[in-house]
This record gives sequence, C-alpha cells and structure tokens, in this order.
Amino acid sequence: MSKKKRSQDSVPRHFYHADEDNNMGGYERIEHYNPERIEKLAPLYREVLEILGEDPNREGLLDTPKRMAKAMQYLSHGHDLDPERILKSAMFKEDYKQMVIVKDIEIFSLCEHHMIPFIGKAHVAYIPDGYVVGLSKIPRVVDAFARRLQVQERLTTEIKEAIYNTLKPMGVAVVIEARHLCMAMRGIQKQNSVTTTSDFVGAFTVDRTRQEFLHLIDAKLS
Ligand SMILES: [Zn+2]
Repeated sequence: MSKKKRSQDSVPRHFYHADEDNNMGGYERIEHYNPERIEKLAPLYREVLEILGEDPNREGLLDTPKRMAKAMQYLSHGHDLDPERILKSAMFKEDYKQMVIVKDIEIFSLCEHHMIPFIGKAHVAYIPDGYVVGLSKIPRVVDAFARRLQVQERLTTEIKEAIYNTLKPMGVAVVIEARHLCMAMRGIQKQNSVTTTSDFVGAFTVDRTRQEFLHLIDAKLS
C-alpha cells in the first residue's frame, strides 16, 4: 500500500532480525554471518567430522566445518527474529471482515530432537477485525518460527499465537503438512508419510468456518 511497505517487500526475506535502533519497521537486513559464532562453531564441527571417522584434512572437507557453521547459523536464524514486530511493521486499518488465506507457504525447519530437517507447507488464515496485514508478512512470520529448532506442533501454535496476539482478528487457523526427514532417513518404514498439525482459535472453532477453510486449502484432517 504505502511506499515504505513496497521497499521492505523488495528486500530478500532471509536476513532479518529485530533491532531497536533502526527505522525499517522493527527489523533490518543482516548482510553477513555473525563471524564470532562461525569462529566458535567451525572447530567444533571439525571435531565432529573426526569423531565420525572422517579426515577433516582431505581436500573436499577442508572448508566443510566453516560451511556447516554457516549453514546451521542460517537454518536457526529465526531465533534472532521477532515475528510480532514483523507483523506490526505492516498492519493497516481496514474494514474487510472476510477470511484471508495464504496457502502453500514453504516450510524448512529443523526437528529439535535430531536436528534433521522437516519440510512441507503451511496454510494460514485469519478473519480481520479492524486490521489487515501486508500479505508477504505472513510467510515471513512462518519462516521466523520455522528457522529454529522446532517440533511441528509448537511451530503450528506459535504462528497462530503471533497472529492472534498482534492483529487481534476474529480468528486464526494454521495447518501444517510436513515430511520429517528424521523419520524418512533413519530406516523407519513410513518413508513418505506426511504429518499434519492444525490449530484454530476464535471464529475458526466454529465448525462451519473451519470446514470452509479446510475446503479452500483442500486439506484432510484426520
Ligand atoms: Zn526428529
């Protein structure tokens, strides 16, 4: 809507963190990895490689500890983000009172039990009550919670709570469908199984509204 919003939306969404002292609506872009964390992590990953029976001095592995450190820092950078501030940075007064759905939001998260990825899709809906939020902020909030050590159940609820507490809408619904590689890769038989979690609050606890949402995202909850 505003010029400010558009310029924020044009920034790649990967490196945000909450920062009190910037004027970008509560978060700013971080261009570089935190070098202190990389310095601390890399030698530990080198040791991990050794303990796993690898030779960290062979050519292919020389930079691997540093790459692992950067990758893990990236995959967990949601800890440095403030989802409610992301939402507040693009809240607009609006009389619209119909269901707003953002579906098929890609999820890349790390299971906190194995630190192995779970990947899938989130579908988020809310019914505004005075305020709407810039649509691109919903996937950012999903990402801010997903880029942490997570369990799918908590991820689902945290997304719901952040939207409910910030926008104070009539209701919020979140459904996540994900494949857990810790199940698929570790020899457990159900290699293609998908785990579905859902959480509803407010208007979505009414059966008819919830069914309409589920119909629109084409999800089957068992
Ligand atoms: Zn796991």
